[in-house]
Amino acid sequence: MLRLFDTAQGRVVPFERREPGKVSMYVCGPTVSGPAHLGHGRFTLVFDVLRRYLEWGGDEVRYVSNITDIDDKIIARAAAEGRPEAEVAATYEAQWYEAMDAIGVRRPTVDPHATAYVEAMVALIAGLVEGGAAYETGDGVYFSAEQLQGYGLLARQSIDSLRAGARVEALEEKRSPVDFALWKKAKPGEPSWPSPWGPGRPGWHTECVVMALDLLGEGFDLHGGGQDLAFPHHENERVQAVATGRRYARHWAHNGFVEVGGEKMSKSLGNFTTLAELIESVDPRAYRLLVLRAHYRSPIDVTRAATADAAAALERLDAFARRAAGLAPVAPEPDAVARFRAAMDDDLDTSAAVALLFELVRRGNALLDEGREGPAAALAAAVHEICGAVGIELRSGTEEVPEAVAALARRRDDARAARHWAAADALRDQLEAEGWTVEDTPAGTTVRRR
Ligand SMILES: [Zn+2]
Repeated sequence: MLRLFDTAQGRVVPFERREPGKVSMYVCGPTVSGPAHLGHGRFTLVFDVLRRYLEWGGDEVRYVSNITDIDDKIIARAAAEGRPEAEVAATYEAQWYEAMDAIGVRRPTVDPHATAYVEAMVALIAGLVEGGAAYETGDGVYFSAEQLQGYGLLARQSIDSLRAGARVEALEEKRSPVDFALWKKAKPGEPSWPSPWGPGRPGWHTECVVMALDLLGEGFDLHGGGQDLAFPHHENERVQAVATGRRYARHWAHNGFVEVGGEKMSKSLGNFTTLAELIESVDPRAYRLLVLRAHYRSPIDVTRAATADAAAALERLDAFARRAAGLAPVAPEPDAVARFRAAMDDDLDTSAAVALLFELVRRGNALLDEGREGPAAALAAAVHEICGAVGIELRSGTEEVPEAVAALARRRDDARAARHWAAADALRDQLEAEGWTVEDTPAGTTVRRR
């Protein structure tokens, strides 16, 4: 049985589903105002792994992750680039999914867009105002957080310490520093929607609560995101549901930060800045392995050295898969699969699962050295099973080679046979540039995906 650390309870608890065999999860998605960075890559990988693991275990998972397509940063960028907000958002949303596809993060079941939900958000805010949980000011509508019993649950802090730590902003008519904006009245030239409080737009915290309840229903199973979202964003979502008398997420899961050299990400360290940059310079599967090597709640260091090391480790997995590719197919070794399940059920201990994978590879290689193909095949099948469950696609060399690529390889063989070395080298370069590893064998040129 899966046990997960629940931020609201502050400990590891059994994961209790609303309905057996079904899991409903909501993960806060991106604000599409710029390129995806490494932290985006991590949280999406962490929750993609959880989703895949649940599905591997037989659950039917409904995965909702929103696209925030209107906010201050999008408005600022649209103004700077002299084009409409919707165009800016569409550009970065397309880039987002390109990056997600590259790192193998599966698309959400539903990806609601904030701008499609404004009316529903206005309705929720109006209900909060009516019930006395929110109030209007000169610049917007605010949630009266102090009034709500238990505010601060996901911060794991008392209301007194939250109040003491809150940033006091000038020109706000908030009744308490912990109150937060539900609705922002439009400034001249800003995009706006009609509301009982005049034209404006909803705050970010209202977006997620409305979408999650609409698409997953009350008491859905899990709400996730990066640890920086637990407070205030998730807490502010939660209290809006509570204030309208609806049960929100049963469980809360948060992943740790991405660091560079032990520090929070910085652009000045000559490291990767965007996810696209990482994908260009290293096998994107290496980022998944790097994420899996650490516990999801621990910080990870994403440096060029760390990704190169993960890429080398990945090659050991691929090499074993290639070596075992010709063995007669058998069932995975049951003990290995049971150990994998035990590790994952223990608060998603992917680090133990990865250690197990490499242990299996070592043992499998040793068995093959001894010529014991049967037991080696069972370990190879377990390696495939586990990699599949966490989303690592192994390259065993048996993948289909597209005809266009095979044709290039044949032309290279012809060029070599005719002793046209320069032409043969050019064809090798072209194949490598397209992501293929080229090897010379007695049978001619063979290619496999890098
Ligand atoms: Zn959210």
